[in-house]
Amino acid sequence: MAYQALYRVWRPQRFEDMIGQEVITRTLKNAITTNQISHAYLFAGPRGTGKTSAAKIFAKAINCHHQTDGEPCNECETCKAITAGTLNDVIEIDAASNNGVEEIRDIRDKVKYAPTVADYKVYIIDEVHMLSTGAFNALLKTLEEPPANVIFILATTEPHKIPATIISRTQRFDFKRIAASDSYNRMIYILDQKGVIYDEQAVKVIAKAAEGGMRDALSILDQALSFGDNEITLDNALLVTGSVTHELLATYVQQVLGGDTKAALATLQSVLEAGKDAERFTEDLISYARDLLLYQQAPQLVEEAEMGSVSDDFQQLAKQTPAQTMYAMINELNAIQQQMRFTTHPDVYLEILTIKLAEIGRQKGATPTAAPAAPNAAAATPSAPAASSSALTALQHEVDQLKSTVKQLEQTPVAAKPAAKPRVTKKAPAKEVNLAKIYPVLGAATREKLNQLQEVWPDVLDSLSITQRAVMKVSQPVAAADSGVIVAFDYAFLYQRATSDHELTDALENGLDRMIGTALPVVFVPKEDWPVIRKNYLTAHKDELQNNHAGDAEQPAKPAANPVVTKAEELFGKDVVDVKND
Ligand SMILES: [Zn+2]
Repeated sequence: MAYQALYRVWRPQRFEDMIGQEVITRTLKNAITTNQISHAYLFAGPRGTGKTSAAKIFAKAINCHHQTDGEPCNECETCKAITAGTLNDVIEIDAASNNGVEEIRDIRDKVKYAPTVADYKVYIIDEVHMLSTGAFNALLKTLEEPPANVIFILATTEPHKIPATIISRTQRFDFKRIAASDSYNRMIYILDQKGVIYDEQAVKVIAKAAEGGMRDALSILDQALSFGDNEITLDNALLVTGSVTHELLATYVQQVLGGDTKAALATLQSVLEAGKDAERFTEDLISYARDLLLYQQAPQLVEEAEMGSVSDDFQQLAKQTPAQTMYAMINELNAIQQQMRFTTHPDVYLEILTIKLAEIGRQKGATPTAAPAAPNAAAATPSAPAASSSALTALQHEVDQLKSTVKQLEQTPVAAKPAAKPRVTKKAPAKEVNLAKIYPVLGAATREKLNQLQEVWPDVLDSLSITQRAVMKVSQPVAAADSGVIVAFDYAFLYQRATSDHELTDALENGLDRMIGTALPVVFVPKEDWPVIRKNYLTAHKDELQNNHAGDAEQPAKPAANPVVTKAEELFGKDVVDVKND
């Protein structure tokens, strides 16, 4: 006999067998025993939560002459025929494939005839939101004048797409996502019945990955079974679900929180090389970080969700990481997740993410490895809020310091700046912006050259290695001449990284050589400093610019344009120029 998918074989045949929808099944059974049956139902909810199973059980229960407490007997001819899908009076329609008006007109024509065998004719319309407007109108007419002994069960994953006029004529049930522990228990039951060997941890991984859908859980279980020669191992479960193990996640989080960018990038690399999906990894990281936060407040909730398996690593991290850091991390993860939707290179975003997270780890001074918790304090949870409030004070202090530094910077010429960039972190102070390289480029810069560079820039970046691209992703050319190009960075720490990376500079120049035929020298600047740099340049070279202008005999008749402004406009466009003439 051909292999039958688990979700088919183990499809619930009684309300009692349904997982995680107790309120709905109780209400339906009650309706049957008290004979208060509505002529139209709407079953709404995520996929794989039991909507069509409930519909078929309901169809059986109202037609079964041996029903007890609202449950079908599953033994009589009627029950068996409905289970097999051979009873003409129970009609299943998949609106996703039959969305034509004709199909519904057909219903309207046939609905007039009384059921032939059963007591009730039951139409089960799956994915009903897919019906065309015409079909909805036809359906509405039928629902407005429902014939006796005909019941409609409309199932949908997207109830908001169904016209209100239809919804108002139905009794609505909202199916919930199934709790991981519920689908875990169901899978364990099935595996025990089948006599399959399994690793409990593996089944937990599958239960979590199914995200509330029982059918998905069983499909994944099927795949893991086919991989593992009738055995469910953790490795296979991780492979099939694309999940990352908690150990790997813990290692990665420890590394970024410890500010160890290099190690974290290496871990990321091995995660990606193992074929894990970048979006899945981000998803896993978000739920890991959320769990850490939650664990600080309500450990028992996490214990429950994790089905009792909270690792030592996880507990340590939860104890040592200030809540503030976790929030910053989650914000960063959410932002990256949004951006990843629009890219064909999600891996690159993960590299940037890693660099940013490690930066957060360094800034917040959250270094789990440097500050091991006292073993005796292990059982106590109150340490977490205390830690976070002291971290908050420290953070507030840092922010105040930063603010005054920024103020200073705004009033100080760029060249004098580096010493002012203070001990925000313990890393080396920011490198001095190299004006000796920048000014000559500015002197010869043209708008035309800049446009050319901006156009080819994405292609130049494509020629870099993944790690290099991660650094350069948030950069763009801001000025260009035949003698060089100035590239600005959104983030100061990426600017620093780029500046100290000579291989990167070489790779960029090679890329430029390929794209525009010249290996233009590349100079980096932090974007936040850029307005000050160009303004200082224009001020410093005002006389020079004016002299050049004076020597130009071509335009004496025109109202004298400010040559500094002209130069600035040429460089940066009209929108950004504000040069004071003192
Ligand atoms: Zn029966």
